[in-house]
Amino acid sequence: MRTEKIPYYEFSEGIFEIDEFDCASIFVIVGEERALVLDTGTGIGDLRRVIENRITAKPYDVVLTHNHVDHAGGAGFFDSVWVHEADRNWDRKIFPPTLEARREYARIVSSRENKNYSYSLDEDIIKWYREPEIKMISDGQVFDLGGRKVAFYHVPGHTRGECAAIDDKSRILFIGDACNCNYLLGEDIADNFEESADVAIKGLERIWDKRDAYDRIYNSHHDYRGLGCPLAENVLPDLIECLRRIKMGICDYRVVPDMLSYHKTKKVAVYKKVQVTYLGGGYQK
Ligand SMILES: [Zn+2]
Repeated sequence: MRTEKIPYYEFSEGIFEIDEFDCASIFVIVGEERALVLDTGTGIGDLRRVIENRITAKPYDVVLTHNHVDHAGGAGFFDSVWVHEADRNWDRKIFPPTLEARREYARIVSSRENKNYSYSLDEDIIKWYREPEIKMISDGQVFDLGGRKVAFYHVPGHTRGECAAIDDKSRILFIGDACNCNYLLGEDIADNFEESADVAIKGLERIWDKRDAYDRIYNSHHDYRGLGCPLAENVLPDLIECLRRIKMGICDYRVVPDMLSYHKTKKVAVYKKVQVTYLGGGYQK
């Protein structure tokens, strides 16, 4: 039986962060009538049972912030998932949610963290039960959960279809991988690094301009913050500044270890504590 020992923490009323063994965070937002699940992780163990048996018995929708392996990897254990049209295709070149890529990603993270995890790569990361029904989420779409509303916004840059969400009750912005201290700029956003940075800047500036609607930001990987704790406030404006400097050709670059180990090292653009990796232009396995 696949493990149900997936740690989770209710850090704000009705908001749970599920820690998928340091691979990704899955958020569950529970309203008075319905719930919303943000992302499906890499698909390790029985996430669905954890949600339905321990977190909420309410009906829920599943929304993918984007279609990378560590967010869409568990999609096939749910009946349907919402995703932006630009990310509907699972057949991606980098970080696809295939069985092989899911196991490889979990193997890399588990060896990187050097911890003992309560799952087995072979028994707990298995083939999807089915192709989930895909529902298209659109920019500005709102889910009314009863007593709280969650609005989604398109923030392209990390992937073409990345979406962020704002919960009006907790005033939390869930930003997926569209902002963190080790930002990966997608390989298929525009023709080159500078133009791709420009797309990301426009999306992130739009989210920054909505800051009257949120007080805290949670990204999808808690290695940039504590579990249940928000991302540092300066990360979003510093990321926007780093991307602006890339676009203008004045950013500093540095060679750093590659945490995903596809290469031993990689060259990144750096501004304060934020670094940006371009996945286009030859970054691949
Ligand atoms: Zn991602």
